[in-house]
Amino acid sequence: MGIPDRIKANHPFISLEFFPPRTAKAIPAFHETVERLMRLNPLFAAVTCGAGGGGTTNTMKTAYGLREKYGLTAMPHVTCVRNSVESVRALVKEIRECGFQNVLAVRGDFPEGQDAAPEGLRYASDLVRRIHEADSELNVGVAAYPDAHPESASLKDDIDCLLRKFDMGASFAVTQLFFDNRRYFDLVDRLARKGCTSLVIPSVLPIRSLGQVRRLMGICSTPIPGKLLAALEEADAKGGDKAVREVGADFAADQLRNLVNLGAPGVHLYPFNRAGLCLEVVERAGLMP
Ligand code: FAD
Repeated sequence: MGIPDRIKANHPFISLEFFPPRTAKAIPAFHETVERLMRLNPLFAAVTCGAGGGGTTNTMKTAYGLREKYGLTAMPHVTCVRNSVESVRALVKEIRECGFQNVLAVRGDFPEGQDAAPEGLRYASDLVRRIHEADSELNVGVAAYPDAHPESASLKDDIDCLLRKFDMGASFAVTQLFFDNRRYFDLVDRLARKGCTSLVIPSVLPIRSLGQVRRLMGICSTPIPGKLLAALEEADAKGGDKAVREVGADFAADQLRNLVNLGAPGVHLYPFNRAGLCLEVVERAGLMP
């Protein structure tokens, strides 16, 4: 079953995002993490491509392992940066041969000074279109941005970009992390007003340290509410990472509970390949299966 159909039959759900282990030495710890997170009965497990976890081969291998070893609905990510118009057909064939029914198509970030080939895969919508042309039965997910992508001129442009990805054949979206649930529900409302009812899965990052949050804010430009930042800074000054983790866990648990209570179909969590904090957050939110 594709992810949209699985969601209709199972909500609220938890899904998870993994990055492929970077070295052979990291593989046992990765499996230990996955085994612990199986308690969440994840609806699907997404596996990033690039973004610190190596290339397409590593992504496919990791996703395949999650499917074979744990019976998970695994979803590899694919990027414009690592593909060309010509390579997409072969990639889709490989995805099907590995037994995947879902894929997340994102642009990725071109290295400084590099760009797509003139007729190449410049935007995620180009990649979605090529995947859909190669296999219209494959469920294609895309990225959505409750706080708008940093390169978008406005929220309106950002939503038009998302609508274009749905028009090209995407059937669901997974959001960038965000901290203000109103932004997520506003995005869903704006799409509905444009006649789009495709599923948008909200992503939540349980914060584990102030350093992590600052690094991520630099990468994805998600604004952090002043009150949350002040609470994290105060916790850091009083009790370091342990105290920050506690504030982060409480905040994420509230965020999960509120999302689900207000009608989100489920929540996509970023465990950063570690189990403990996500398990605690789901437990505190009262959402443990
Ligand atoms: P796009 O949808 O192409 O949008 C990028 C920007 O271009 C936006 O500002 C948009 O408004 C603009 N734009 C789009 N189309 C047009 C057009 N036709 N004309 C003018 N402007 C346009 N990165 C990785 O490297 N690997 C991953 O595995 C990965 N996984 C991710 C998973 C999720 C859930 C999310 C939210 C992000 C992920 N990313 C990943 C990061 C992502 O690649 C970056 O955020 C990237 O900068 C944008 O990707 P996109 O697919 O949203 O791009």
